[in-house]
Parts: sequence; structure tokens; C-alpha cells
Amino acid sequence: MSRAAVTKDLVLAQARALKMPGLARVFDALARQAREEHWGYEDYLHDVLSAEQTSRADSAVRHRLREARFPEVKTLDTFDFIATDGAVSAAQIAELGRGEWIGRADNVILAGPIGTGKTHLAIALGVEATKQRRRVLFTRAADIVRTLLEARDARELGRLQRRLQHVDLLILDELGFVPFDRAGGELLFNLLAERYERRSVIVTTNLAFGEWVKVFGGDEKLTTALLDRLAHHATVITTKGKSYRMRKRGEQEKGSEANEKGGSPSLPKGSRKA
Ligand code: ADP
Ligand code: MG
Repeated sequence: MSRAAVTKDLVLAQARALKMPGLARVFDALARQAREEHWGYEDYLHDVLSAEQTSRADSAVRHRLREARFPEVKTLDTFDFIATDGAVSAAQIAELGRGEWIGRADNVILAGPIGTGKTHLAIALGVEATKQRRRVLFTRAADIVRTLLEARDARELGRLQRRLQHVDLLILDELGFVPFDRAGGELLFNLLAERYERRSVIVTTNLAFGEWVKVFGGDEKLTTALLDRLAHHATVITTKGKSYRMRKRGEQEKGSEANEKGGSPSLPKGSRKA
């Protein structure tokens, strides 16, 4: 074994011991390049350390992404703004994607009918936040309420609440699908009250604000107090119209119908298969 090969093995072992995978990946190729191009030692060191820095930043983001427990990954670049009929503005979402509102502990409420992209947008904004290395947690409202109730029964509520308070952006999906009993509603209220002006929340819901009281067992006072806090510093985005998938299916059907007739695929708006 040549001396250079021995040294290379030693460096690899050191990189493992020091947990520097980025350095391990690049040091050899960069050394070759440095020799060919006559870099100074400092320049070489700088490039190797930059690679290690990038690698650490990437793995931190991957870690945040795993921690967030998204049911699936959705991104802003796959969101079709035109399909929202002007309900969702690309500029507004791009601005939210920058995440400054999370720094201010503001909230986002996405309200609208089923299938109109609320969860997609919530996840995509969450993914952007993980890229900024913020802690994100995605959960369905019913699931978090169940978890809170279980923690309370196991006398572990305080611990869970502290853990949740640690999360920079909590995404509560599907508020309104399942109503809560009194205890569940109060636990959710407490969770949101604790986050008020401290940490951000995204809520997606199929309900109009006036209907929220139904979810909280008809408790007007609690619902009003909760909405006051949640909506105080919030961007409210209301989606509308038919489900995106049904719409796409409709377009496809219209398209093939038109093809069958040999006509143009752009049938007049509102025309449907009988
Ligand atoms: P909601 O949460 O409002 O019920 P989802 O976000 O789950 O709706 O959307 C249902 C499906 O349609 C998802 O697969 C989502 O990615 C897709 N979808 C909805 N709206 C859009 C859109 N404007 N552009 C791209 N995909 C969309
Ligand atoms: Mg949804």
C-alpha cells in the first residue's frame, strides 16, 4: 500500500470518528483537483469544510422533514394555482413560503371544501419551513386531541405539552371532520392558547368560522376565545370550488369525449357528460 493510500484510509477513519461525512466524500477528489490547479492549502481546507457544512445542513433538513411526520410530501412547485380560480394567490403563498410569519408566531388558516388543496398547501408550507430548519409537526386535529387525552390519562400531559410547545410550526389538519367532547375541546383550546403569540399554527378546515362551535360541542365561549386567538395574527385563505381531482377527471373525460367526436377538446364551460 502506498503512503498516500494509507493516509487516505487514516483520513477516512478520522472523518468517521469525527462524524464528518461531507469531508469524507470530497477530500480525495478535491485534493487531486487542488494539486492539478495549484490551490493554496487554505483554499483546499476551505472547500473541504464547505462540503462538510453543506452536508450537515442537508442532513439537518432531512431530520426536520422526518420529525414533521408529513403523511406524504407535497411541494409548492406541484401546486396548480390556476386551478384554484383565483382563491389562492401564488404571490401570497410564495411570501408565506419564506416563513417570516413563523418567526413572528403568526398563523395560517386554510378553509374550504374537500379536495381543494388545503392539506397540499399546509404540507408544502411545512416543507418550506423545514428547509429553514424550523421544527414542524403535522397532525390531524382528531389525532392530536386523542393523543392529548391519552397523555392526560397516563399523567403525561405536561410532558407532551412541553414537547409540542417546542415545535415552531404545528399543522392541525382537518379540523371539523370529527367533533370533540368537552375534555378534548378544552385540551385543544389549551394547546392553541399556549401557542398564542409564541408559536405558529396552520389549521385546515372544511368549516366556516361560524360553524366551528359545532366541533367544540356547542361551547360558544370556548370557541369564540379560541377563534379570537387563532385569527388575531392570521392569514386566512379560503379555497373554493370543486375538488381538484374531480375537476381533473372531468377535464380528462371532456377531452376524450371531444376526441371521440373528433372535435376540439375545449368544450364550452359547464358542459358535461350526460
Ligand atoms: P383538501 O385538504 O382541501 O381536502 P388536498 O390538499 O388533500 O385537499 O387535495 C386533494 C388532492 O388533490 C391532493 O392529491 C392534492 O395534491 C391535489 N390538489 C388539490 N388542489 C391542487 C392544486 N391546486 N394543484 C395541484 N394539486 C392539487
Ligand atoms: Mg385535507
